[in-house]
Amino acid sequence: MNTIINFFKGFWSLVAGIGVTIRYSFKPRVTLEYPKKRLTPPRFKGPISFVRDEKTGDHLCISCNACIKICPSACMSLKAERDANNKRILTDFKVNHNLCSLCSLCIQVCPTDALEHSMNYDEAAYSQKDFIHDLLEPFPKPVVTKIKTESPPQPSPGGTAA
Ligand code: SF4
Ligand code: SF4
Repeated sequence: MNTIINFFKGFWSLVAGIGVTIRYSFKPRVTLEYPKKRLTPPRFKGPISFVRDEKTGDHLCISCNACIKICPSACMSLKAERDANNKRILTDFKVNHNLCSLCSLCIQVCPTDALEHSMNYDEAAYSQKDFIHDLLEPFPKPVVTKIKTESPPQPSPGGTAA
């Protein structure tokens, strides 16, 4: 008798399992085929990165230092040089994401909307150095055309400048 009861219990459990499978086959999927497909949650705050200008393909930073000054974690740094037209050209921009609190203040103060939170949510590394991001890396290397400076006046043998 027990064998028959166990048989029907097992059979019912099989039917119930198949029922659940069939029911969920017709519902929209809640999972993605990661990493082929990735989530893009609109309010996700990933590591800070540069916005790419759709027209020029370049970044929008004008090296004004506003983000550097406001950053509460002091984790941003930049270098800029002046070109022949006295325009500041950004030559280096780094963010130490070991220290960044993702507070978004740098994004808010940027006058050119050059910064954004990236969608990078699965970054992993063996060293803290790998979390110091060079924001200029995805962009063409900056070319700084320097002002041609005349050589300073040389002192004449008599002691006065030539
Ligand atoms: S998000 Fe906040 S902590 Fe991170 S770099 Fe910007 S200002 Fe600094
Ligand atoms: S605030 Fe914006 S424009 Fe100014 S240095 Fe920072 S990223 Fe560049």
